[in-house]
Amino acid sequence: MILATAVSAVLAAWLLLLGLFARRLQADWREPVLAAPVLIVESDDWGPGPPADGTRLQALLRVLRKHRGADGRPPVITLGVVLAAPGVGVSVAANLALEYSPSILDEERYSSILAAMREGSSAGVFALQLHGREHFWPLAVIKAARHDPQARAFLQGGPTAPRHEMLASHLQSRWVDAASLPSVALDREAIERAVGEETACFRRVFGAPARVAVPVTFVWTTDVEAAWARHGIRVVVTPGSRNVGRDAEGRLVADGSILRNGDPAPGAMCYVVRDVYFEPALGHTAERTLQEIRERHRLGRPALVEMHRFNFTGDPVEADRALGELDRLLAGALRSIPRLRFMSTEALSDALRTRDPALVDRRTAARLRTFVLRAATQHRLRKLAWLSGLALPAVAIYGAASLLLPGAGHPKSAVGS
Ligand SMILES: [Zn+2]
Repeated sequence: MILATAVSAVLAAWLLLLGLFARRLQADWREPVLAAPVLIVESDDWGPGPPADGTRLQALLRVLRKHRGADGRPPVITLGVVLAAPGVGVSVAANLALEYSPSILDEERYSSILAAMREGSSAGVFALQLHGREHFWPLAVIKAARHDPQARAFLQGGPTAPRHEMLASHLQSRWVDAASLPSVALDREAIERAVGEETACFRRVFGAPARVAVPVTFVWTTDVEAAWARHGIRVVVTPGSRNVGRDAEGRLVADGSILRNGDPAPGAMCYVVRDVYFEPALGHTAERTLQEIRERHRLGRPALVEMHRFNFTGDPVEADRALGELDRLLAGALRSIPRLRFMSTEALSDALRTRDPALVDRRTAARLRTFVLRAATQHRLRKLAWLSGLALPAVAIYGAASLLLPGAGHPKSAVGS
């Protein structure tokens, strides 16, 4: 009787625990398990700028061409492209505001940048992705320019395209009106119009439709997703959840979603997750990033590495150092990760969507083993699982699955408390 009561209590505790973490655990289970380690470097913000940006892109090309993955293919850097920046602003003297006059990437003065993008794309080492026609919501910046001198200087433009990085972080968001904080949602028609414009602009500039969208500052809404789906986008790059606005301090406001690699999105789209950060200009090193990449692979996930344009376009000494660090990262990854593969984010998402057996491990034992590994990364769940004893069946499942998989690791290394 006592034993039966104790067993019931333990089982009830386990059920409660599983219920508390159900959403995360379901996400851990449904996310495909990769059969081979995949590394993709994603570099956002490339677009209108001085001719020197074209030179930096050429230098990036040279670094990529030095390396080859396990299948003989070179590394791919996805370029999150911005298509327009302020040209020469038109002052409206009455209210001291400015109008926005866009200068588009296919203008002659950006020819060296566009040529490098096209060369890299033809060579299969640059994959062009849509970041946004602008890296801001023009009406919000026009409004902010009335009281914000930085926004005003930005809109005034000049002989070289001003960098959006000079704007306050919240004004760099595109899919909310952050002229004042907290931000205000955009209406659906305005979003539809802007997405129609930006996808048409991408097609005109590159002669091919955009298939992958990277939300600017990772703030976007389901209305934006629906519009992207209607205009040919097939993949949305995310940080793992959706941010839908900015709070009174300009911080990101998440909507509580859990987005995983291969999760279906509106239309025929799917999500991917980019959550490794490699910004040498901010002090990130190849060694530290390599650890993060290896951790993604341990959990059966691709490693999508974020590396912004600003690493390469500032002080030339710093830019060279960033290139060198990227070179070291690629060399170190190839040296220490057997079977490492490089590909574009679009190719990865195609494989995830179709559960391509060449890249996705569909064996139940592999899925179970990885599920336990992923669950064990949730600190609170792991602690409570050991306290309640739920960790014991988890270790047993992990051990049994590992025995069925040649070359899999020892249980102790995976779920130790
Ligand atoms: Zn950006």
